[in-house]
Amino acid sequence: MEMKSASAALLKNYIGGEWVASNNATVDLNPSDLADVVGQYAEAEPAHVKQAVEAARAAFPGWSRTVPAQRSEILLRIACEMEARQNELGELLSREEGKVRKEGVNEVAKAAKLFEYFAAEIIRPDGEHFPSLRDGIDVEALREPLGVIAVLTPWNLPMGTPCWKIAPALAFGNCVVFKPSNFVPASAWALTDIIARAGMPPGVFNLVMGPGSAIGNALVSTLGINAITFTGSNATGSHIAKAAGERRIKLQMEMGGKNPLVVLDDANLNLAVDGALRGAFYATGQRCTASSRLIVTKGIHDKFVSALVERMKAVKVDHALDPQTDIGPVVNEPQLDIDLSYLALGLGEGAKLACGGERLTRKTRGYYLAPALFTETSNKMRINQEEIFGPIASVIRAKDYDEALSIANDTPFGLAAGIYTASMRHATHFKRNAECGICMINLPTAGSDIHAPFGGRKASSYGSRELSVHAREFYTTMKTVYASPGA
Ligand code: NAP
Repeated sequence: MEMKSASAALLKNYIGGEWVASNNATVDLNPSDLADVVGQYAEAEPAHVKQAVEAARAAFPGWSRTVPAQRSEILLRIACEMEARQNELGELLSREEGKVRKEGVNEVAKAAKLFEYFAAEIIRPDGEHFPSLRDGIDVEALREPLGVIAVLTPWNLPMGTPCWKIAPALAFGNCVVFKPSNFVPASAWALTDIIARAGMPPGVFNLVMGPGSAIGNALVSTLGINAITFTGSNATGSHIAKAAGERRIKLQMEMGGKNPLVVLDDANLNLAVDGALRGAFYATGQRCTASSRLIVTKGIHDKFVSALVERMKAVKVDHALDPQTDIGPVVNEPQLDIDLSYLALGLGEGAKLACGGERLTRKTRGYYLAPALFTETSNKMRINQEEIFGPIASVIRAKDYDEALSIANDTPFGLAAGIYTASMRHATHFKRNAECGICMINLPTAGSDIHAPFGGRKASSYGSRELSVHAREFYTTMKTVYASPGA
């Protein structure tokens, strides 16, 4: 295979304030162009994980006692550099993950804002005071950092998800050992490089790259971590929950979704079709909040399907850095194989493929797949019960609103749910009865604000919410102090 732009330098892990080499490397390829080598990244060894946790433990007493204003300044420095370099970093992200340039740049810009947000959040007055039931006693509840946080993240938001976790973890005075998905080491390394130069003492932040089965597993099993924050699949989540449960350490997990988007007869057709198209297929459908089940009532069903198919045919699938591209490639070969296997499964289950689903050939060799729409499906089919995590969605016909709501909730997952309707009565009922953590009304299921809480229900989530003021719940522990004047 002809290789372009192979980076000679092996980019290393970051442990205890030093860049640390290792014997093995991951070669990071661009899914839009397999001849383009994004870079080569050192794979940590299990001994490195132990060193990283020890370095973080050693740094914790000093870091946790820094005044919030000092941590705030460091977080702002990180935010400034990310913001100033958003185009370059967004392009790097697109190059290694395959989302289009605009989405990559937007992800970096939002991630920068998160550091800014938590730089301010950390100086918010905190703690609670209670009048005691006993005379002469003061009662306060203080918040303190937890210690060493293991951060494990997936490949689909290579900057976004790590920053959701790293910014609040550091802001509240914790130390971090970060294990990114080994499919996206370039974004993780670039973020680490910025954090490493922001002025934190050695050991406060550490990066260990490598495959989840080895390095992720070593991290969650290492004694010395005080909490795990994980985003990824339900299968890995179950494994991590066991490791955390055995040692009784704090755990937060955000996992998969099979998100319903209900379209009622009275919906604005253009808005609903646009929301379905963007929610189901943009970012190559590789979003935990993707609208993968389109539940459409019978009066609008046929019009909706034909308008959506028309829009899908006009979408340009191509190299992620081509400015004309709407949808980039699938991230890697294992994910493409999963997508293709679900396409075959759907046909085998009796669904009709109304559009797309074929592998596409482009100027450069990559994992291109035409966004696919199944119609005439039932909610019981595996394609509607299991998360696919690709550019594949199904339409499910419903008789009326009540049936649509019941189908929407008939899933093990509970992340996002949306509805398109002009009826205030139905929108309000849906808002109160959809079994989800994020509810969208006349909006695509994907897309969130950094200052609002994020998380799901049922199999999609475990533990407290991410982002916003609520992030404090996970990244701190409480101490209740009873004080008497003594003599
Ligand atoms: P994944 O395979 O579960 O991986 C997630 C992270 O865990 C990666 O860093 C992975 O490393 C690591 N890992 C894998 N096996 C491990 C093990 N045995 N022990 C410890 N760590 C291990 O998930 P993914 O394929 O990267 O991401 C897609 C999934 O993430 C989808 O289910 C999606 O819905 C979910 N997601 C959820 C949200 C949300 O907020 N709810 C957001 C984004 C994505 P390697 O990659 O190196 O193997």
